[in-house]
Amino acid sequence: MRTFEDTYRHKGLRKQLIQVLRDKGITNERILEVMNEIPRHYFLDSAFDQVAYEDKAFPILEGQTISQPYTVAYQTQLLDVKPFEKVLEIGTGSGYQAMVLGALGCQVFTIERQKKLFDFHKNFILRGKYPSIKYFYGDGFEGLPTFAPFDKVLVTAAAPFIPPKLIEQMKTGAKLVIPVGEGEIQQMKRVTKNADGSYSEELFEQFSFVPMLMGKNQ
Ligand code: SAH
Repeated sequence: MRTFEDTYRHKGLRKQLIQVLRDKGITNERILEVMNEIPRHYFLDSAFDQVAYEDKAFPILEGQTISQPYTVAYQTQLLDVKPFEKVLEIGTGSGYQAMVLGALGCQVFTIERQKKLFDFHKNFILRGKYPSIKYFYGDGFEGLPTFAPFDKVLVTAAAPFIPPKLIEQMKTGAKLVIPVGEGEIQQMKRVTKNADGSYSEELFEQFSFVPMLMGKNQ
């Protein structure tokens, strides 16, 4: 069950969370602003109502998780999005990250491999608020060739390697933010596509995501 009421208490806790993110080094005020607007507790079962604004990941359907707010802010900051950019997200999950990108003015294309999670978004209460977000059921390793090329690509599951099709679907100069690694811990990478189709990598902090898996799941 979920409750869709944004009380003063929720708003107060959200403000405190924003301060936590600022203290942890998030400097992009626009990102902090939109995270202060989006009611994170709407993305969680009401059992998590008391803790929804702690800086932690929480379980959603199908053994998946909503990313930790710091992780969302960190990845979004690395991605450095501008309004109207075409952004591909792999791993819709709760849909929270997609809404942060939508609220920043991006045209978002988000893919989820778990059918139940994908279906959930069809009726989600906040869906109408961000019509610039398009939801797809599919395998993120394949990307979305029909809508390519993209300005930015964001992977929100632990990738065993950099998926070549995602690089193919990027514009020259486009950026991909992706946690790479097969163990418990992954290295955050920012990949920039060069004019000759090759790419260069920058390395950032370590994180722990649920795995990026091949194929779709009914
Ligand atoms: N961005 C999400 C985080 C979700 S966790 C949020 O804001 O809540 C990662 C998600 O990636 C899970 O829902 C998982 O099912 C999905 N996933 C894993 N491998 C995938 C793949 N190959 N294609 C698409 N989605 C994938």
